[in-house]
Amino acid sequence: MSGYLLKAAATRARSAAWSRRANGSAEPDGLRILFYHRVSDDRDELAVSPHNFRRQMDYLATESYRVADVVEAAALMERGGPFRRTVGLSFDDGFLDVAEEALPILAERGFRATVFVTPGVVDGWASFSWYRSQPPLLGWEEIVDLDGEGTLRFEAHSLTHPNLLTLRDTAAHEEINGSKLSLEARLGRPVVAFSYPSGLFGARERGLVAAAGFHVAVSCEPGVNSSGTDRLALRRRQIDRRDGLLDFRAKVEGGHDSPLPLRGVYRRRRYGMGAGTGSLRLASSRE
Ligand SMILES: [Zn+2]
Repeated sequence: MSGYLLKAAATRARSAAWSRRANGSAEPDGLRILFYHRVSDDRDELAVSPHNFRRQMDYLATESYRVADVVEAAALMERGGPFRRTVGLSFDDGFLDVAEEALPILAERGFRATVFVTPGVVDGWASFSWYRSQPPLLGWEEIVDLDGEGTLRFEAHSLTHPNLLTLRDTAAHEEINGSKLSLEARLGRPVVAFSYPSGLFGARERGLVAAAGFHVAVSCEPGVNSSGTDRLALRRRQIDRRDGLLDFRAKVEGGHDSPLPLRGVYRRRRYGMGAGTGSLRLASSRE
């Protein structure tokens, strides 16, 4: 738990530094993509409260941001922009509270977001290893209905959410390919975007994602995306439970484009070998 408090303190310090520096000066141009997991009042480090989420979306609406899903964001990058006042939005893992709490707030404002789901966990033959009691997930019927409505679009996040770096080639292939095929069979449309589970990937995983036919893949490396950014290693910034509105603004506007100093240590403890280093070869971030 102290790790989360430390992270919150480091985030706040950086947001404050950004705020002092940012008056008038623009951060590098490009597209920032945010990601969340849950929107809920549950005591869960992966949950942002509905109150905070609403304030964050209100901020974007008030500041006239266009909020795009990950596939739209990638298409914008393909066209070379413009990126000003556009932000990409995504949710990992497909929790039910995303539909119950986030969806109405997004729909009201005309915002769109990608939800990355794991078909094996939706089916119920796999579960998320980090929950003793797993919060409810969206079921297939809801996923198919919501995908057709247009505010939320569903894309792939592997079959069972493993650390892909630890798998043999055939298993990694099955996780990546299988999630695409399973989701396409349900949705009846091409699935083109992939989110690396826990953001862990290397050259092999990127190759498998390309071979499977995905056009876009997102990591958990913070940073800004430009027209030259590898489409299969797009950067994203997580919005955390303890983020205040200043932290949110700083994340949207470029104050958090590099990892926090202790992130590598923290991620290796949580995800084991390879975590916090897996994407370095591709995302060229510094940890
Ligand atoms: Zn995930």
